[in-house]
Amino acid sequence: MAIFGAVPIPNHPPERSPAYRKLTRQVLRRKLWLFGIMNQAKIVQILGFLAKWALKLRFPVRGIIRATVFKEFCGGESLQKSLPKIEQLHRLGIGSIPDYSVEGLNSEELMDETLVRLQEALTFTANHPETPLFVFKVTGLIHSNLLEARGNQTLTDPIQLQSYQRGQDRVTTLLRMASQLQCPVMIDAEESWLQDPIDQIALEASMEFNRSKAIVIQTLQMYRHDRLDYLRHCLKHAEEAGYIPGFKVVRGAYMEKERDRAGLMGYTDPIQPDKSATDRDTHSAIHILLQHPRAFICLGTHNRSSCVWATELMNQFNIATNSDRIIFAQLLGMSDSLSVELADAGYMVAKYLPFGPVDKVLPYLLRRASENSSAAGELSREYALLLAEQTHRRQESSVANRTSSAA
Ligand SMILES: Cc1cc2nc3c(=O)[nH]c(=O)nc-3n(C[C@H](O)[C@H](O)[C@H](O)COP(=O)(O)OP(=O)(O)OC[C@H]3O[C@@H](n4cnc5c(N)ncnc54)[C@H](O)[C@@H]3O)c2cc1C
Repeated sequence: MAIFGAVPIPNHPPERSPAYRKLTRQVLRRKLWLFGIMNQAKIVQILGFLAKWALKLRFPVRGIIRATVFKEFCGGESLQKSLPKIEQLHRLGIGSIPDYSVEGLNSEELMDETLVRLQEALTFTANHPETPLFVFKVTGLIHSNLLEARGNQTLTDPIQLQSYQRGQDRVTTLLRMASQLQCPVMIDAEESWLQDPIDQIALEASMEFNRSKAIVIQTLQMYRHDRLDYLRHCLKHAEEAGYIPGFKVVRGAYMEKERDRAGLMGYTDPIQPDKSATDRDTHSAIHILLQHPRAFICLGTHNRSSCVWATELMNQFNIATNSDRIIFAQLLGMSDSLSVELADAGYMVAKYLPFGPVDKVLPYLLRRASENSSAAGELSREYALLLAEQTHRRQESSVANRTSSAA
């Protein structure tokens, strides 16, 4: 039994989530209404389709989106406007990870502009203790077609090579700034056909900037069957080159897309054969990284069992609960019960805090909504907890009513 190690969180979640116990009646009602709608896949599909067209045709629907899904899953239209949410999370012992969620950019000018927005957000992150980490997607700075061509070694056209170099310079500029500010930055993992050059950039930047602290944190998608070997390769590289490795461990977000493409193009599916293989490798990666003496690890998951497993290992390896090299992370508006439970137990926890103009973050919001509408989705679990909170309150108030009328 460990003496200094973390105290693991229990195997079963509390019946009544502390995250929802503190909600005002109005906020609880809003959440129940929203999550109730999103729990129905067909309605989500139809509303998503309508929202996209309404914005394209300039119908005045921004206000409705802003007051509903945007309010639930995003910080605000800018980081400054996200401050109330950042402070609200901070009061619960939860950090925020600013995530500029503008997607699908395809011109040099828009990518140059994205770099400026990311630099502003990085400066904000470095200057606020409530925001312990920063995150970005390489496809916001290098066009995905160029990344794909680079990955399969078909990037030979001089103009395309020049564009790729310009994109890579944008990424390096951001990471160099992070190093100057000593602000850790996570690089999101994307589709497998884009990932090799992203990994290459991350590895080279880690070697350059992770000298006294993990500034560059790369992402491992454990639904890929080659990632454990890749992790071992990276750790060996870090040891030989003498830098501190940093990883975000996730299961992976593009499973259907990956399987469809592999099937269509006739190459070996990069995804694990089943969910249990993904779970096994996720847990092996956590085990390897927690055993490492210096590695930084961000565990990006809504899966409670994986968090329980990690806290049990922290206990076994005598790692302190509030160790600053281990952070648990969830997305804003998702698994709030888990985030609060971990924070209450003293673990480092942070939420991805998406921000940006309403119409620009719509693709992100639609992904969250449809992810949540699947039967096995996190939202079903959260919805059940919200309903349980409502039932508790109703029971409490009917007991109170009976007591007062008896008196
Ligand atoms: C803070 C944070 C950061 C994230 N960053 C990234 C990122 O950079 N890149 C990225 O791709 N995703 C990212 N994600 C999303 C993540 O990869 C998962 O899609 C999502 O969190 C669901 O997985 P889970 O561990 O929470 O829970 P679970 O519900 O336990 O797992 C669901 C996941 O298991 C895997 N899975 C399901 N069925 C099967 C099957 N039949 N065979 C094999 N595998 C299966 C899939 O990956 C699926 O998403 C991030 C998530 C969080 C919370």
